[in-house]
Amino acid sequence: MLSFQAALATIEQKLLESKRDPPTEILPLDQARGRVLAEDVVADRDYPPFPRATRDGFAVRAANVAAIPATLTCRGEVRAGEHFSGVLGPGECVAIMTGAPLPAGADAVVMLEYVQAAGSLVRVERAVVARENVVERGSEASAGALVLRRRRRLGAGEIGLLASVGKSQIHVYRPPQVAILPTGDEVVPLERRPEWFQVRNSNAFALAAQVAEAGGIPQRLPIAPDEKIALRRLIEEGFDSDLLLVSGGVSKGKYDHVRHVLEELGAEFHVQGVAIRPGKPLVFGQAKEKPFFGLPGNPVSTYVTFELFARPTIAWLGGAEFEPPIFLRARLGQPFRQKLDLTVFTPARVEVRQGEPFVDVVGWLGSGDLVGLAVANCFLVIHPEQTDLAAGDWVDVLPRRG
Ligand code: AMP
Ligand code: MG
Repeated sequence: MLSFQAALATIEQKLLESKRDPPTEILPLDQARGRVLAEDVVADRDYPPFPRATRDGFAVRAANVAAIPATLTCRGEVRAGEHFSGVLGPGECVAIMTGAPLPAGADAVVMLEYVQAAGSLVRVERAVVARENVVERGSEASAGALVLRRRRRLGAGEIGLLASVGKSQIHVYRPPQVAILPTGDEVVPLERRPEWFQVRNSNAFALAAQVAEAGGIPQRLPIAPDEKIALRRLIEEGFDSDLLLVSGGVSKGKYDHVRHVLEELGAEFHVQGVAIRPGKPLVFGQAKEKPFFGLPGNPVSTYVTFELFARPTIAWLGGAEFEPPIFLRARLGQPFRQKLDLTVFTPARVEVRQGEPFVDVVGWLGSGDLVGLAVANCFLVIHPEQTDLAAGDWVDVLPRRG
C-alpha cells in the first residue's frame, strides 16, 4: 500500500503527465477573488513611483544634521498627494507627511518626535543618515518588472497588488467543474425523512462546499444505489465534468461496486489504498481522459481525503500549481501513542497558550463522527514512525480550511 507521501506524489505525477488547458476569461477585478491568474502581470511604473517619506517629520539634508542640535530654516510643507516644487538648499528643511514625495535636494526625513519647531526655525535633536525614513523610487518594483506570475490564486493581497498597478480587468482561468456522486442504498436525499436504518446524504453537501472553497464548480449528481447498471449510468454522467468525486462504495464489501464499474469503463487505477487513517480505501485514477477519486464514504474519511488529495487536484485542473497540503507545527498537549503503520489524521484544536501553539485532540469517535469534526479547527498529523510522543513534543498540524 502506498504511503501518504507516495500517494500524493503519484497523483501529482499522473496529473502533470496528462493534459490540461483550462479556458480563460476576462473578469473585472472585483469579481476575481479566488480565481487563478492566467497572465503574467508587470508593474506599469516604478513602485514606489517617487522617493516616499515613511514618517511624518521634516525633510532634511542628512549632512546638515550630522552635528546636533542643529537649527534649520523651514521652507514650507509637503503633504501626501502634493509635491514640493523648489529645491532644498543647505540649512533648510521642509515639513513632510507620510506618503509625500521627498523634495529635491533633501535626502532624509527626521521624525517629528525629534524636532522642535518655532515659527520658521526648526531645531533638530537627533541625527539621521542619508535615506533614513525614505523608501526609494522603484525599490519594490521597477516599471516593467514581473509582480505577479500566471497560475497564482487571487486572494486579497494579490487583488490589492493588481489594483495598485491599474489592472481593472484581469485574465483568469475558468474554474473546473467537479461532479459529486454519492453512493449507497442507505443514503437518502435531504428532502426525505430517513428511516431509522438510513442516513442523510451529508457527503455530497460537505464535498460541494469543499469543492467551491477549493476553486471548483460543484455539480451534485443524484444518489447512486449499490447496483451496477444505475451506478454506471451516473458515473458516465460524472465524466462530463473535469473531475469526478465518488463518495462511498470503494471498499471491499459485497456491494462496493464503484471500482468494478470504473474498470468496465476502461479506468486506469493509479492509487488503490493509502496508508492513512481515516481514508485507507482511497482510489485515484483516470478514465475517458478525466481524473477521478473514489473517496471512502465515512463522512470524516471523505472530508480528510478530499483535503489531502482532491483539493490540490482541483487547483491544478483550474490552472494553478499542484499545491500539496502544508502542515504547520504545534506542541502536543497530551502524550500520544500509536503503533499503526499509518499516517493518522485526528480532528484536533490548536490554541495559543503562553505564547506557544498547543494542539489537543477533540473527543472524537471515529470516521463517522461529524459532530467531533465540527469542533475541530485542525487535524493532528501523526506519522508512522512517531509511535511514542510526549506532551510538549512538536508535531505536524493540518489546519482546517473548509
Ligand atoms: P462506504 O464507503 O460506502 O462503505 O460507506 C461507509 C460509511 O459512510 C457508511 O456508514 C455509510 O452509510 C456512510 N456514507 C456513505 N455515503 C454517505 C453519504 N453520502 N453521506 C453520509 N454518509 C455516507
Ligand atoms: Mg456504501
